[in-house]
Amino acid sequence: MSAETSLIKARGARIELAQVRKEYADSVAVDDVSLVIEPGEFMTLLGPSGSGKTTTLNIIAGFTAATSGTLTIGGVQMQDLPPHRRDIGMVFQHYALFPHMTVAQNVAFPLKQRKVPKARRTELVEAALETVRLGGYGHRRPRELSGGQQQRVALARAVVYEPSVLLMDEPLGALDKKLRESLQLEIKRVHREVGSTFVFVTHDQEEALVLSDRIAVFNDGGIQQVGTASELYEKPRSLFVAEFLGESSTVRGRVEPDGDDSCLRVGDRCVRAPGRPAEGTDAAVVVRPEHLRVQPAGAPVAPGANALPARVSQEIYLGSGRKLELVLPDGTVLLAREQADRLSDVRHGDEVTVVWDVERGVLLGDTPNPTHAPTPADRTPVGVAGESGR
Ligand code: ADP
Ligand code: MG
Repeated sequence: MSAETSLIKARGARIELAQVRKEYADSVAVDDVSLVIEPGEFMTLLGPSGSGKTTTLNIIAGFTAATSGTLTIGGVQMQDLPPHRRDIGMVFQHYALFPHMTVAQNVAFPLKQRKVPKARRTELVEAALETVRLGGYGHRRPRELSGGQQQRVALARAVVYEPSVLLMDEPLGALDKKLRESLQLEIKRVHREVGSTFVFVTHDQEEALVLSDRIAVFNDGGIQQVGTASELYEKPRSLFVAEFLGESSTVRGRVEPDGDDSCLRVGDRCVRAPGRPAEGTDAAVVVRPEHLRVQPAGAPVAPGANALPARVSQEIYLGSGRKLELVLPDGTVLLAREQADRLSDVRHGDEVTVVWDVERGVLLGDTPNPTHAPTPADRTPVGVAGESGR
């Protein structure tokens, strides 16, 4: 009786933010954010702490008023509509369940507020609990559930009234890694079943990759790039995006003429990549670690490939293969990843040549060579977030 009872009829709404800005007395939290989220889409707002994700989500929810710009949900201007009239569900990092109520009463709460008749309420609560795989837990109290189960109750409470939009702000942030991964799959399944438009906030790039139809990468109050996981990974348009999503190796240099062509001068070598930056500017070429090959110094380099001299400064065993940290003569550190069945025989300390096919590089223009050492804020996403799940 329950599974088909409802939930399925919820339809996602289209969300459109145009030039949204939020100023506080002494700071700008969000600046010129424009974003279209399609009906039923799973959109993730991804970015480091303080980049404006929560502010953007709260503007969609109606908890925060934008200083300027417009928001429509399902084609309707939202400016003057309070949160409870926006047809949205919300899940926060901290479950915010009512401790004195049973699970069923918690899930029924938004239905009661909406004056749904009792019989229908019971039906919908049962269906919502089935959706999050907690059928039969209705009589328990929140404290009798694990953290992951409590968060599933919060999810059931958010979908039970079939909102056209579901907003989630780091809902898995308080859970340990294993649980987080299993709940990611649950959330993905619930999204498919419910059909609402999901907007999910996280600072964890792997979580974003697992969940999303598309990802909006935030930095410093603005959106850097919007795209599918593979678009962002294969075609980052900025160094920030390249380094925030997955691991990357970056070489920087000045663009110089090279015969009829131009190339990036890195030490005494010339690095080529698809595209044509202006000569005399600073640029960077980013390569994903799985595309770098490491060979003993002096071994012949395939024609048409880029080659840089380096030294192996670290070997990291990964189970599925290994990662090599490589230092260029100017101190730049690159990462190469090798599959277990295709390990080269270079070792820690070896002088090597790092090689990659020209087409594998992504050329990013207008990226000044930093004269300072990277600050912790510059570095955080690259190794830390990228490392944790592998
Ligand atoms: P995120 O969710 O990406 O971590 P937030 O949207 O919470 O980022 O915050 C973005 C910026 O706005 C931060 O610099 C934060 O300090 C600032 N900010 C957020 N809320 C307020 C507020 N109520 N008053 C002043 N500044 C705020
Ligand atoms: Mg936040």
